Amino acid sequence: MSSLRDWLGTGDAADADWGGHVRRLAARGELGFGGGDLLLDLPALAQPHACRPASCAPRLRAAGCRSCCADLDVEVSAAEQAAIEAALPSLRTELAERDPRWQAAPSWVDGGVLTRPGGRCVFAAPAPTGFGCALHAAEDRRGLPRGALKPMPCRLFPLVVVDLGEPTLLLTALHRSTGRHLGLPARPFPCLSGDDTVRLVDSAHDTLAELWGARAAGRIRRAVRRYLRNSGADAGAGA
Ligand code: SF4
Ligand code: SF4
Repeated sequence: MSSLRDWLGTGDAADADWGGHVRRLAARGELGFGGGDLLLDLPALAQPHACRPASCAPRLRAAGCRSCCADLDVEVSAAEQAAIEAALPSLRTELAERDPRWQAAPSWVDGGVLTRPGGRCVFAAPAPTGFGCALHAAEDRRGLPRGALKPMPCRLFPLVVVDLGEPTLLLTALHRSTGRHLGLPARPFPCLSGDDTVRLVDSAHDTLAELWGARAAGRIRRAVRRYLRNSGADAGAGA
C-alpha cells in the first residue's frame, strides 16, 4: 500500500473530476466499500477480463485492436526510473539477445514516459504469445517482488486508482462507463471486449493483494461477488 501511496503522490494517477461518476454509482447502489478509505466501482471490477497478448500484439492483432503495451503512454515515477536504470546494465544484454531494437541501445524513457520504438513499449520483448514484459520477466528471474521494476500503471492495467482527495481512493477500471474520464474507450482492448466468465476482480486478485494486502483483497472480492449476486449478473458467484 505504501508503494501505491508513493506512486499516487508522484506518478501518473488518474486526475479527472470523478465526483459525478461516484455519485451516479452511489445512486444506483453500485458503489462498494473495500475497507478503510477505499471505495469500489463495482460494475467496473465485475466486468469480464482475460489477458490475451496475442490478440493485441502489433502485427498479430485485428484492425482496431489496442494494447496496453503498444498504444498507451506509461508514465514512470522518479523512483521507478531509478530502479530500472540500476537494472539496465544486465537488462540491456538480455534484451539485445531477444529484441533487435536493443542492439541499437535505444533511449528507454523520454520526459518520464517509456519510449515505444517501432510502435511498442521499449520493454515489450518478442515472445511466442506476441510479446512479453521484460521487466516482469526480470523480476521473476531475479526473485524480486512485483513492482521492483515493473511500473505501477502496468501492474494496475486495466485497474485504475483515483485519488478522490486524501485519504479517499476509488478503485475502478477501464470500462464502458469510465472511458470518458480516462480519455480512451475500453472496447478496443481484447481483454475487456470478450464475454469471459472470469471477472476482473478475480484476474487481478494477485495485484490487489500485493497493493492492499490479502485481507483487503478478499474484502474487495466479496463486495464484487455480492454485487453480482444482488444484480442477478452472476447467479454462480460464491460467498
Ligand atoms: S491486458 Fe489487454 S491490452 Fe494488455 S496485453 Fe493483455 S489483452 Fe493486451
Ligand atoms: S513496461 Fe512492460 S507491462 Fe509496461 S508497457 Fe512496457 S512491456 Fe508492457
